[in-house]
Amino acid sequence: MAEVRTTRETDEDLVVVENLVKYFPVRTGLLQRVTANVKAVDGVSFTIKRGETLGLVGESGCGKTTVGRTLLALTPQTDGRVYFEGRDVFAMRRQELKEVRREMQIIFQDPYSSLDPRMPVGESIMEGLVVHKVGTQQERWEHVINLLRMVNMEDFHAKRFPHEFSGGQRQRIGIARALALDPKFIVADEPVSALDVSVQAQVLNILMDLQAQLGLTYLFIAHNLSVVEHISTRVAVMYLGKMAELASRNEIFQNPLHPYTQALMSAIPIANPRKAGSRDRIILEGDVPSPINPPVGCHFHPRCRYAIKGTCDVEEPVFKDYGDGHYVACWLVEKNAG
Ligand code: SF4
Repeated sequence: MAEVRTTRETDEDLVVVENLVKYFPVRTGLLQRVTANVKAVDGVSFTIKRGETLGLVGESGCGKTTVGRTLLALTPQTDGRVYFEGRDVFAMRRQELKEVRREMQIIFQDPYSSLDPRMPVGESIMEGLVVHKVGTQQERWEHVINLLRMVNMEDFHAKRFPHEFSGGQRQRIGIARALALDPKFIVADEPVSALDVSVQAQVLNILMDLQAQLGLTYLFIAHNLSVVEHISTRVAVMYLGKMAELASRNEIFQNPLHPYTQALMSAIPIANPRKAGSRDRIILEGDVPSPINPPVGCHFHPRCRYAIKGTCDVEEPVFKDYGDGHYVACWLVEKNAG
């Protein structure tokens, strides 16, 4: 049995992530020796409270998708721990992990790749029920129909194949599939990124309705801040494998403290610039450095206009709470708070 943990997290916390690390080895030469590591996630800690949506944002390649997959144990971690309802996920034996996976599901960005093109979608939705031996065949079909209705699809859709649906419908099927085993927690990995803007709102509203109805908890991964603002209770910002900032949605959108978050916020388009007034766009200089060889000190320092020489390029800032659960990893914030 995996260790049951009673310290640090509160009863409110469904998921606790402690110092999560995930490196991907780079192999070269005839002998395929490991010559370097892609440091996709490099010591990330956060909690997700029951019933909330934690939005996780950052540029592509910052490690946010790897966080989602690693915490579900879909890919092995390099280091760190993840607790689900106080139980150490990485210490679980196969059977215990199989059981806990019923409660932790994922919605993929591209549901087409996760649906078997030769299988009617009803059977794809039912797959988890078959694997976990839940119900009779009749009960499984009734459950599938009920799930399709919950995501605003028709009963007859169960007999159709993935190619017969639009992108938005396929994503709703992906949601139905994730709900089949009655999970408590869902990692939604860029679930609307590939959809038209008009369809994005429909899918987001379905996710929010289901959360209210079923008491679900989400980790919602996205690169679009407007989408995250719509759905999140709290928002976490990642940069090059590290956490930069985490706070409640209102706090992070009204009072972003980390220079990287400020730059991301400045790039959000304003719906009506004349009415809302203009916003100074912060242009980040240079490219995102390679995660194989990230900068020493603060990973963001080569692109930061506030970088403090001799500090930011030497020592890594601590990710800490500056009040009311507003976490930031930045020497400038530390200096101003002092
Ligand atoms: Fe910029 Fe320094 Fe803060 Fe990093 S620690 S974001 S380099 S001010």
